[in-house]
Amino acid sequence: MKKKYVLISLISIILILISISIFYIVRINKVKPTFASLNKDSSGKVDLVVKQDVLSPYIDEDVTLKLGDKTIDKSKYKVTKTGIVDTSTLGTYEIEYIIKYSYRTIKVKKTIEVVDQTAPELTINVDEVDRDFCSKKIKQNIVYSAIDNYDGDITSNVTVEEGEDKLIYSITDSSGNTSTKEVNINYGKKPGNKFYINGANPMHVIINTEYQEKGASYTDGCGKNIGKEIITSGTVDTTVEGTYYINYDVEGEATITRKVIVEHYAPKTIYLTFDDGPGANTVKVLNALDKYNVKATFFVTNQFPRYQYLIAEEYNKGHKIGVHTLTHKWSVYDSLDAYLDDFNQMNEIVKNQTGSYTNIFRFPGGSGNTVSRSHKTGVVTEIANEMTNRGYIYFDWNLSSGDADGKGASTDKIISNVVNRVDKCSAHCVILFHDYKPTTANAIEPILAELTKRGYNFATLNENSPTVHAKILN
Ligand SMILES: [Zn+2]
Repeated sequence: MKKKYVLISLISIILILISISIFYIVRINKVKPTFASLNKDSSGKVDLVVKQDVLSPYIDEDVTLKLGDKTIDKSKYKVTKTGIVDTSTLGTYEIEYIIKYSYRTIKVKKTIEVVDQTAPELTINVDEVDRDFCSKKIKQNIVYSAIDNYDGDITSNVTVEEGEDKLIYSITDSSGNTSTKEVNINYGKKPGNKFYINGANPMHVIINTEYQEKGASYTDGCGKNIGKEIITSGTVDTTVEGTYYINYDVEGEATITRKVIVEHYAPKTIYLTFDDGPGANTVKVLNALDKYNVKATFFVTNQFPRYQYLIAEEYNKGHKIGVHTLTHKWSVYDSLDAYLDDFNQMNEIVKNQTGSYTNIFRFPGGSGNTVSRSHKTGVVTEIANEMTNRGYIYFDWNLSSGDADGKGASTDKIISNVVNRVDKCSAHCVILFHDYKPTTANAIEPILAELTKRGYNFATLNENSPTVHAKILN
C-alpha cells in the first residue's frame, strides 16, 4: 500500500513540474519585441517598414521586450543588430535585431526605405512680368534655377507652361517630388492707331527729277493695316525750286503733312569713317553716334590692343568694320607680302571680335599716299590689284576732318572743317576721322547735331557703296 502512495506522489510532482514548465514556456512565448515610436508589433514576429529621409542622419531605435503591457527590464535580455543604412544613397536597407531572452532567441527585421521626400527648390527672379501687347513678347529677362537636395542642379529640367495670364514653372526631382511656381503676366494696354508718312519727311528732291509719292500708312497700334482710305492732296512742281506740302487724310481721324523740298542738290549721303582705333576715346565716339542713331564705318587697327574688344562693340551696334592695318607701320609697304601679312593678322582679329572677316579696307595713309615710295616702287598699285583680285574693296575719303593733319586740329576746327565743307562733297561724302583722338571724340556730337538737322542721310560703307578713290601715286 505504501508503495502505491509513493508512486502517486511522484506522478503528482512530475505533473506539477510539467504544469509549471508549460506555464513558463507559454508565458515566455508571450514576450513581444516592440518599437516605442512605431506602436506596432505582432506577437513575436515584427516586420517593420520605415521611411528615412535621404541625406539626413539615421538614428536606429532600440527594440524593447514587453510581456503584455509590462516592459521587461533591459538587463534580462541582450540585443545584437546586423545591417547598415546608407542615407547618402536612395534604396532599401535591412536591420536585423537578434534578441536573446532566457532560453529563447527572437529575431526581428526592420526594413528602412531611404527616400527623397523633399521637393526641389525652385527660384525665379521675378513674380510678375510685362508682355508686349503686339508681339506678345515678355519684356523682362526671366532667370530661374532648380536645386534638389539629392539630384543637385536640375535647372535644365524645369518646364514652363504658358497660360493666358501666367507662366507656370515646374520641376520634378528623380523621386517624383514636384515644385511649382507661377509668374503673373501683365498685358500692356493696346497701343493706339498709328498714322505715319512713308519715306523721308522732309523729302529732298533734285530739281527736274521725278517726285515719287510714297504715301502714308494708317495702322492699328500693332502695325496692322486697318484698311481705311487715305486721301492724298497737294502737288509738287519739281521744275520750280521751293518747299511743297503733301497732306494725307484719314477721314474723321487725322491729317499728316509731308514737306517736300525741291532743290538743286540731292540729299547727300554721308559716310562717317574712323581710322586708327579703337582707342581711349572710341567709346565717346560710339556714344555720340548712339545719341543720333547714326551708323559709321571703323577702319580698325591693333595699335591699342587693350581696346580691341571695342571692335565687337562697334560691330554689335551696327557699325561697319573694315581693316586699316595691324601695326600702322610704314614697313607694311616694304612688299606685297609684308602688306598681306599685316592685313591678314588684322582681319583675323576682326573675325575674332565680330565672327566674320571683313571685305573692306583702307590703306594706311590712303591709296594716294607717297610715303610708300621710299619702301617699294609701285607697291600700292601692286597691293590694290592683288586685293581687288582677292575680292576686297578699298575706300579713301573726299572730306578730311583734319583731325590728324600735322599736330591735329582742335575740336572747334574739326567741327568747322566738316560742317562748312560737307556741302561741297559730291552726292556722297566720305569723311575721314580718327576715333582715338580726344579732339575728334568731342567734335562728333556737335557735328551730328548740325548734320542731322540739315536732313542728310547717313550710311555705312559696303560693297555697294560708291567707292571714293584717290589717285594712286605709287
Ligand atoms: Zn591711319
